[in-house]
Amino acid sequence: MAGQQAVEHKYVYDFSEGNKDQKDLLGGKGANLAEMTNLGLPVPPGFTITTEACKAYLSTGEEPAGLGDQISARLATLESAMGKRLGDPDDPLLVSVRSGAKFSMPGMMETVLNVGLNDRSVVGLSAQAGGNDRFAWDSYRRLIQMFGKTVCEVPGEEFEHALDDAKRVKGVTNDLDLDADDLRGLVDAYKSIFSKHTGREFPQEPREQLDLAIHAVFESWNADRAVLYRRQERIPADLGTAVNVVAMVFGNLGPDSGTGVAFTRDPASGAQGIYGDYLANAQGEDVVAGIRNTVPLQELEQLDKKSYDELLSIMARLEEHYKDLCDIEFTIERGKLWMLQTRVGKRTAAAAFVIAGQLVDEGLIDLDEALHRVNGAQLAQLMFPRFKLDHEFQPVAKGIGASPGAAVGKVVFTSARAVELAAEGESVILVRRETNPDDLNGMIAAQGILTSRGGKTSHAAVVARGMGKTCVSGADDLDIDIPGRKFVVGGQTVSEGDVVSIDGTTGKVFLGEVPVMPSEVVQYFEGSLDPAHIDNALVRAVHRIMTHADGKRRLRVRTNADTGADAARARRFGAEGIGLCRTEHMFLGDRKELVERLILARDGKERDDALAALLPLQRADFVEIFREMDGLPVTVRLIDPPLHEFLPPLEQLAVNVAVAQERGEDVAKEEALLSAVRRMHEQNPMLGLRGVRLGLVIPGLFAMQVRAIAEAAVECAKQGVRSCPEIMVPLVGAVQELETVRAEAEKIIAEVTREQPVDVLIGTMIEVPRAALTAGQIAEAAQFFSFGTNDLTQMGWGFSRDDVEGAFFWRYLELGIFGISPFESIDREGVGRLVRIATEEGRAARPGLKIGVCGEHGGDPESVHFFHEVGLDYVSCSPFRVPVARLEAGRAVVETGGSDSR
Ligand code: PEP
Ligand code: MG
Repeated sequence: MAGQQAVEHKYVYDFSEGNKDQKDLLGGKGANLAEMTNLGLPVPPGFTITTEACKAYLSTGEEPAGLGDQISARLATLESAMGKRLGDPDDPLLVSVRSGAKFSMPGMMETVLNVGLNDRSVVGLSAQAGGNDRFAWDSYRRLIQMFGKTVCEVPGEEFEHALDDAKRVKGVTNDLDLDADDLRGLVDAYKSIFSKHTGREFPQEPREQLDLAIHAVFESWNADRAVLYRRQERIPADLGTAVNVVAMVFGNLGPDSGTGVAFTRDPASGAQGIYGDYLANAQGEDVVAGIRNTVPLQELEQLDKKSYDELLSIMARLEEHYKDLCDIEFTIERGKLWMLQTRVGKRTAAAAFVIAGQLVDEGLIDLDEALHRVNGAQLAQLMFPRFKLDHEFQPVAKGIGASPGAAVGKVVFTSARAVELAAEGESVILVRRETNPDDLNGMIAAQGILTSRGGKTSHAAVVARGMGKTCVSGADDLDIDIPGRKFVVGGQTVSEGDVVSIDGTTGKVFLGEVPVMPSEVVQYFEGSLDPAHIDNALVRAVHRIMTHADGKRRLRVRTNADTGADAARARRFGAEGIGLCRTEHMFLGDRKELVERLILARDGKERDDALAALLPLQRADFVEIFREMDGLPVTVRLIDPPLHEFLPPLEQLAVNVAVAQERGEDVAKEEALLSAVRRMHEQNPMLGLRGVRLGLVIPGLFAMQVRAIAEAAVECAKQGVRSCPEIMVPLVGAVQELETVRAEAEKIIAEVTREQPVDVLIGTMIEVPRAALTAGQIAEAAQFFSFGTNDLTQMGWGFSRDDVEGAFFWRYLELGIFGISPFESIDREGVGRLVRIATEEGRAARPGLKIGVCGEHGGDPESVHFFHEVGLDYVSCSPFRVPVARLEAGRAVVETGGSDSR
């Protein structure tokens, strides 16, 4: 009926219809091809099938209604733009079918090139290529190979063996030395392989080829390696991939053709310049796969100046347009340049900082944007040590510094062996000629990756950079024998298990273990490098961006530190106080003896004596810390762990007693300890006699600690040192617990500070779910809150924090129950909700209540953003993570548009 027809869903977009901001729908590649098309750059015509079509196909196993017709319509447009028809025996249009998800997943999904070739059109292609038979048959054999492997799951090695056989018969090693007849023969061999595995002939109908290739790309979204990569990179599993159908242009038409990849700046160091690899007379996949060694892009200037100049001007234009480092894939077909892809390029952590700084200098972005473009994980990576090199260590080979860092480990040659040895706790270096997506597991397990082929853009390089793994690629002096599990370099043989050291910044490879030294970024934080006076682009960029983050952030950053040395280091890293000083370490070492006396005390007198002996030691600890922090707040947590943790294990005591008895020695003390351990045994110690419960049950224990804190503050004050102690009570679940402890503490503080007044706050941890849910009541008795998100996660989920991560989290991650351990990054919906409730209700009861977090989450980038959103006053984390938290706290402000949710 006229006018009643449902509006058909649009699944196919011409390149002229999209733009770079449509990555959700068109995938990264499609959106950027559209953007380049609209910029008037030379992009071969084509169209994009949306991620929605992919999702529909994956959920039903069938093309959604209307997709086939929309493809036909776009194909007709493409054919008329090119003046060629798909399958035309005289002048065939060939297309590539390429995946393109929202987030780049290098090499993880499928591509099929040269779709449209068959037994007849191969002849037409040759004629159109000026009688270049070799080219036509090479294109056809590539189609059968890629189509067979990708669409029909024919084992790829079979094609590779057939190619090797053809080269052997001919007595050549380079595939360029195979002529048209050899390739024609190879096509026959490939077709037999195809039919042997699929039970059918290679499809001759171009539209069938196209449809099957599109389905295969859709399906490759769920290939094992893609699933693994997404998990590793935390890419959501339900996005689907778009499919780009693009008119083929050929880089393998002769010496005036070629293909390459380029970066507008060095993706490893961030240095300005032209970086890339070029391979004459080849198709694009040859470069990425590292099949043949490429030449530096600069050499293109000699080979084809016109294309080179055009490429440079396009690269400049793209950088200006995207305001960022771009990476590019291009092909030159007989002297004509075509842009096949661009995107904002992946880069190393160092390059991210350096480039952000440069772009600010160039006026392309402002400092807020620079801050947005770097992250805490990158900063953490820059804080890793580097090799300490002197003349003693000579490299045995030099490849390309593809992903920086210093990695030392035992050589392994297969992904499986890497996984095996890593599981045994060994550090391994995965050595391959080149990697491919099947090596992903081994790459994850390895400390570093070393390849003998491929450039900065090879699979190994791209994936390693994405993972933040050290990688040296293209070390072509290495003669690698994978089956023999060895490589030879400079006359020396290195076998599986031998140790090598690889430097991902310089590309150098060393035999044996090279010692490492701290990073410049750490040296800068430690104050031994002055950014104003050193010629180090990275340190200058870090300094500039950190300064901006500090100016922006609302959250304060404190540290978890239990000793003067930790406190001093954390201050150099920018800590603005101590958010958690765990006092339990003060009960260890030679003080264990005193703790044993306390536990074994038979009466009040013995207990008081033991506590009295501990008091001056604790006081001295606090004096040291207060001095280091010099007036900054120091949150001291009263003792938290169950006391039996300070005693030897039951089994050991039982053996000691038995042995001593056997020898006729005096066992009275051992026996007393043993019976104490038996008496104190708990089935669930994390839920037992610990935290505030200890303070309520063991007379004088908390009192001693409170006295030590107050006396230390008084001692400091007398010496002119300011201190700002905050006493924190752990594991509170009910306000009455806190009130009881607080009443006693206040009495002691009043007494100690009578003559030398000092302010001492008394607050509580919020780490038991009940405390979070009754925060309004607890706030009445607490001068501050600090979330103990380790325990809050443990008790919120009912996960024993010491057991579950090793025991079964892998399965939870595999099932997608969570994407990351909730002990690592805050579970926003559950545990995070408790944090929100407690913050709101605590502040409703006591306006302006100071609230922080001191669980591990305080240094986790994602969680810092959450704590900013919730409106906490500070996060507290280990000294090393303080710079990360500062950076992320600044980023959180920039990313929420400077808003403050409080
Ligand atoms: C916590 O539970 O988050 C916390 C900081 O305390 P601890 O890790 O010492 O239990
Ligand atoms: Mg705790």
